[in-house]
This record gives sequence, structure tokens and C-alpha cells, in this order.
Amino acid sequence: MSLSSPPLIPAERELLFPACWNHPIATCSQCGSSFKRDELAADPFRGLSLLCPMCGIALTDAVRQHLMSCRMVAHVDTENLVAQTRALLETNAMVRKDAQQQRDTAQRLRAEAEAERQKRDDKLPRRSSGEPEAK
Ligand SMILES: [Zn+2]
Ligand SMILES: [Zn+2]
Repeated sequence: MSLSSPPLIPAERELLFPACWNHPIATCSQCGSSFKRDELAADPFRGLSLLCPMCGIALTDAVRQHLMSCRMVAHVDTENLVAQTRALLETNAMVRKDAQQQRDTAQRLRAEAEAERQKRDDKLPRRSSGEPEAK
């Protein structure tokens, strides 16, 4: 559970009202309880909503997952907003993965360059000051 999960987009919110008002939409990973939309807490001071009323942790991810699997949402979702949302999320995930790959590549290149440099250094004639020079 990460606190950095983005809040629901308006399309997701709009679907929750007509589709998911009468059944639990999120299970708290901490206390294991399920909550309906109206039972979830909000924290206007921190600008957070969809919080577990017991633990106070954000259940945004759980709600989002419910939106993607709920049959009532599919029924109400005539404009296929959930599919659009999913595409958006997948794009985000892909962008994150790309960034990670770029970091990995950069790290690997740096490591290789470092190894090359050390190999070159090893070949250089030793002239460390600690050893007595021919005199
Ligand atoms: Zn639902
Ligand atoms: Zn909880």
C-alpha cells in the first residue's frame, strides 16, 4: 500500500455513485474489513478521501481495482470510462518501467566504464610512491 497512489480521476468518481453505492468497494489491507462508499472516511484537511475509517489508510488502490472488476460498473460504464482509465494507468506503469530501465542501463554503462578504467590502471607500470625507486 503506497501513500503516493493518485486520487481517483473524475470518471472513476462518477462511476462509483451510480454503480457502487450499495455494496462494498474496498477491503482494507490492514484490518481486512470491507467498506461501502459511504462508510469510507475522508480527511479534508489532508485532501484525502477513500480512507479506512478504522486505520485511516487510503484505500484508493482497492477502490480502483474494484472499479475495474465490478459488474455493476461495467453495466453503468456505457462510455467505457474504465477501459480508458485502465489504459491511462497502464501508460503510467509503462512510463515508470521505462524510467527504471533507463536507470538500469545507465548504471550498467557506468559499471562497465569503471571496470574498463580499472583494467587499464592495472596495466600501467606501478609507480606507487611507497616502493623504493631504483637509486
Ligand atoms: Zn461495485
Ligand atoms: Zn483498516
